[in-house]
Amino acid sequence: MLKFALAGNPNCGKTTLFNALTGSTAHVGNWPGVTVDKREGVYKKLSEPVAVVDLPGIYSLSPYTPEEVISRNFILDEKPDCVINIVDATNLERNLYLTTQIMEIDVPVVLALNMIDVVKKSGDKIDAATLEKKIGLPVVQISALKDEGIDELMQRAYEAAQEKRSGSTVLESSPLAHVIDDVKIALRCKGVDNPLFHAVKLAEGDEIEVAAHPDTVGMVDEFKKQFKDSVFEGDFEALVADARYKYISANFSAAFVRAPRKEGLTKSDKADRVLTHRIWGIPLFLVILLAVFHLTFGEDLLYLNAIFGFANDVSTGNAVLDAFVAVFYSSAGVSTPGAILFNLMGFCTDQIGGLIGRGMEATGAAPWAQGLVNDGIWGGVASVLSFVPQILFLFLLISILEDSGYMARVAFILDRAFRKFGLSGRAFIPMIMSFGCSVPAAINTRTLADEKERVMTNRVIPFFTCGAKAPILAAVCGAIASRYTGVDAGLLVFLLYVFGMAMAVLMVALMRQTSMRGDVAPFIMELPAYHAPQLRNLMVHLWDKLKHYVKKAFTVILASCIVIWFLSNFSWEWKMVGMEESILHDIGSFFQWICTPMGFGYGTAKLNQFGWVFVVAAVTGLIAKENVIATFFILAQALGGLAGAEGQSDDGIAEVLFLMEQTGITWQALISFTVFNMLTVPCFAAAATVRGELPKGKFKYTLAFWLLTSYIASSLVFVVLSWWWTAFIVAAAIALVVLYFVFRNKGKIDLGRKKNKAARQ
Ligand code: GDP
Ligand code: MG
Repeated sequence: MLKFALAGNPNCGKTTLFNALTGSTAHVGNWPGVTVDKREGVYKKLSEPVAVVDLPGIYSLSPYTPEEVISRNFILDEKPDCVINIVDATNLERNLYLTTQIMEIDVPVVLALNMIDVVKKSGDKIDAATLEKKIGLPVVQISALKDEGIDELMQRAYEAAQEKRSGSTVLESSPLAHVIDDVKIALRCKGVDNPLFHAVKLAEGDEIEVAAHPDTVGMVDEFKKQFKDSVFEGDFEALVADARYKYISANFSAAFVRAPRKEGLTKSDKADRVLTHRIWGIPLFLVILLAVFHLTFGEDLLYLNAIFGFANDVSTGNAVLDAFVAVFYSSAGVSTPGAILFNLMGFCTDQIGGLIGRGMEATGAAPWAQGLVNDGIWGGVASVLSFVPQILFLFLLISILEDSGYMARVAFILDRAFRKFGLSGRAFIPMIMSFGCSVPAAINTRTLADEKERVMTNRVIPFFTCGAKAPILAAVCGAIASRYTGVDAGLLVFLLYVFGMAMAVLMVALMRQTSMRGDVAPFIMELPAYHAPQLRNLMVHLWDKLKHYVKKAFTVILASCIVIWFLSNFSWEWKMVGMEESILHDIGSFFQWICTPMGFGYGTAKLNQFGWVFVVAAVTGLIAKENVIATFFILAQALGGLAGAEGQSDDGIAEVLFLMEQTGITWQALISFTVFNMLTVPCFAAAATVRGELPKGKFKYTLAFWLLTSYIASSLVFVVLSWWWTAFIVAAAIALVVLYFVFRNKGKIDLGRKKNKAARQ
């Protein structure tokens, strides 16, 4: 099968084109460098199927960053039949810099001028025919997003792939042309592939190339001796870069015909003046985040009820109609979109649960089998599923922020605020990704150049609460809000999310002062222009997430539920017993004492008896964080049952309320329990991924870091929430630590920096 590679700068639209070509469901976002993994697909609309590979986004073919190495080696070694070089047409000159390097390789190349819709909209024009003639490569104008010109592009690429192509260079009239030519001939005589490309890199003095072809070093050195120029002083790399840009602006730039512009700022610039404001940037981000959590987890839309007293206490006298109305409009007020989804899903799971329950009864199966199916299998899974629509809505909102280009700004604002504390904006990109799932977030840390930064980022990624932990927050906050009037679930969820982020910043700052001293790597990022999010991208993303959830619910979570059910209903002698004689009781009780400082170990008489329930839930959460809620459900059933009583809902919030009553756990301890789950060792999948991304030997410290941080932080949260005056003691202790570092650093910080620099050289 023919193989085409997509190459181009970050954010030029490669992934969008890849998705349009292959129909694949890869995630499309604005993160520069999201495409670290190689993705392949098949394009089927030509006379034969063609394999398409999406290469990492790069600005150059010099092998410095992992992305550059991957892309360069793929083109050189795997010899695709055609390279489709995608170019952001709104940024022609900068993008063609990479083109001038790719065209030096002996491979067919087709130039795809992407974002042509944007160019047209602004009234600009591109003279593709002239560009094609001057550059000597087929040029096709496309819009990956609007699906324009894509089939023509593939047709041209297919034609180009039928013929061999020798590399060509724009350096022919540069002062280096002579030495490049000599080296090229020498390489060709040796039978080296792509002699022109390697000759240019050798002339640049590229380290890897020099090591690979030591025999040509003499030729270049000889030339260097004769060559005198005042500007670059023998820095041939800079000389070559300069020659490329000069050639581009002299020969290719004219292809871009700019429409006369009105003076002034573009819409994007205007938006950025507000959204990335020095002072208001972060508060605005927090307000936007609060809005997101309010719309998802709040019950009282826009606090209308709290302000105007909008609650629904009308009764039509018809139970079904009342239940239907309550989905949208209840005693809490007008429902938010998230609450509506939650109510609807709860309604569905209740109906299905009822059906299954009655079905099982009709079969006359043994009580234990009925229990297993109703509580273990369906109940556990349903309690997780009940949150899925709501969490998907949360993802939708986050994806909109991501796809519109706003999240790139967030990395930028956070960089400005937290650079002093040792965090770079680049590191915030994987952290923000972790709102979705920590696994891809950990993989993304590969794009961080600095090893210390990579280690720290991997450690705090789980503090950015992922979608699997969101149900815990939703259930706990929902229960607390419905138990205590005046508490808003959306606000509580928001505060917990912010607490997690604050912990991440705090911990990185602390590590920067202790085990991970060093400079913050510079953060350069192109801010993509804002644009309306594309429905197709959003849907692709949501569909992906939905599949992921449903698959997980019916595999890992289902299996865990069955095991938990057996362990909580059977004794060591393998007889069906009450929960308090069960195997799970014994295991949980064994660890219960450790959790006392966090508020869910020992305390009141009730808690002494039942605190182990929470210990068990936290442990099952290691397999998958959704298990925490599923475990709550199964144990609530074993404790006396809530759905057993007709008309009781089996959604996650009801379980937590029930557990609060039965186990006597306080709301403070529930919050502390949630914090513990947010900060402790993430699920196995995430922990294993982090392990793979860390340098050898660092994982055991990372595990210890997670356990200690979560234990200490949630204990403090419990103590402060339970006895508010302890806040002063905690604040004083933190101030002491800060002061200690401030004094210690006076004069020492430079030392640390110098050492670090020396180590790098
Ligand atoms: P990659 O980094 O090269 O993979 O770029 P992406 O495919 O992730 O695209 C970056 C951004 O540009 C996304 O927000 C896309 O929606 C947007 N984009 C891609 N192609 C086009 C296009 O043809 N027109 C417009 N207007 N936007 C595009
Ligand atoms: Mg991409």
